[in-house]
Amino acid sequence: MTAQPSRPIPPIAATVASLMPRAKAELTELVAFQSVADPAQFPPSECRAAADWVADALRAEDFQDVSVFDTPDGSPSVYGYLPGPEGAPTVLLYAHYDVQPPLDPAGWVTPPFELTEREDGRWYGRGAADCKGGFIMHLLALRALKANGGIPVGVKVVAEGSEEQGTGGLERYAEAHPELLAADAIVIGDAGNFRAGLPTVTATLRGMTMVRVTVDTLRGNLHSGLFGGAAPDALAALIRLLDSLRAEDGSTTVDGLDAEGGWQGLRYEEEDFRRDAKVLDGVELIGHGSVGDRLWARPAVTVMGIDCPPVVGATPSVHSSARAQISLRVPPGQDAAEATKLLTAHLEAHTPWGARVSVEQVGQGQPFRADVGSPAYTSMADALGAAYPGQEMQIAGMGGSIPLCNTLAALYPDAEILLIGLSEPEAQIHAVNESVSPDELERMSVAEALFLVNYAAARPV
Ligand SMILES: [Zn+2]
Repeated sequence: MTAQPSRPIPPIAATVASLMPRAKAELTELVAFQSVADPAQFPPSECRAAADWVADALRAEDFQDVSVFDTPDGSPSVYGYLPGPEGAPTVLLYAHYDVQPPLDPAGWVTPPFELTEREDGRWYGRGAADCKGGFIMHLLALRALKANGGIPVGVKVVAEGSEEQGTGGLERYAEAHPELLAADAIVIGDAGNFRAGLPTVTATLRGMTMVRVTVDTLRGNLHSGLFGGAAPDALAALIRLLDSLRAEDGSTTVDGLDAEGGWQGLRYEEEDFRRDAKVLDGVELIGHGSVGDRLWARPAVTVMGIDCPPVVGATPSVHSSARAQISLRVPPGQDAAEATKLLTAHLEAHTPWGARVSVEQVGQGQPFRADVGSPAYTSMADALGAAYPGQEMQIAGMGGSIPLCNTLAALYPDAEILLIGLSEPEAQIHAVNESVSPDELERMSVAEALFLVNYAAARPV
């Protein structure tokens, strides 16, 4: 089924274009809040002020029940509801107003909390793309519809206040208040196009499991001159154990875990990946299959840290104990709990020399896969095609996880979830000199507006 926009595109695009100066002024105000949700780095009043700004913006658009509410991790989220026409579906629009810390202030060419247009035309500032720009995108889409016949769906907006901290405040709150965010379709405005100008929806996310493994061999450390060669070294045992998680080509091998999945969507060229990942000349990529297979359709193990003596101050010792933290990215189609079991069993089975091993689970999140044949996806495909003439919607995966996305998928199994946004690679989110492309902001806002029109037509409730 293909939905046709029930209103012509040009008026909506023209309205969004006319609203861009105002959008820039608003994004300037929003970026000026140092809303890093870590009280050790910035005062919580900065987050509170940003939340109030978002709430005021929703009230100005006639949203009802607008509230700034505290979530279990102490961070405030913002919610508002705009009722739609009788019988229309409800769409939840998500963004987060908290940002990554600016990192090294000296690394910024212009101040991180002053939105600045540079010669390349992009607007620089922390959160410009991730994800304050995402909130502005939602505002632009809604205003464009209001100016062109009205908003054809019911709209809920939620803006999270601790997304970048990963402390899960809104997830816990949503689980305790499942009615709050219930919707027919959910647009997560926190992703981005695969390349600027190439409209992309992220439709899958890998899940993750995280464990700590501890290996013990001796009652205490020994002198490596006196005992080395026969005494079982726990650090050496751990190194062998960690190595058992990889095949010769570097791909992940966990006993019993399928590591040969295939990716069907957008093609990620190896040379592009090398550039995006900043791989040094002459260094090979690891694994096999396409880049999409490796990033989005297969498990990937990472040793996050190892507890062992640092090089400075190292002594000639045989180590009695060593510990590592391991993450395992879990692709869609696999169960994170099952992956945790398999990883634990693998670690227990591959520990050499009869060394004592213990494995403790420290985190777990399920993978996510959207139904790309659903009315929401066909509506979005038409909208993106119209907003980016000559381009077709691309389906990408995301190698990381967005825990809230998994929470929403679990709470509302019938809701269609789409991830779009402004974080294309040039946006350099999380790094110094983050920026947003005003062209992307404009086009994606047009696309979101058209999506809501298409979806209302495609899915009368
Ligand atoms: Zn984000």
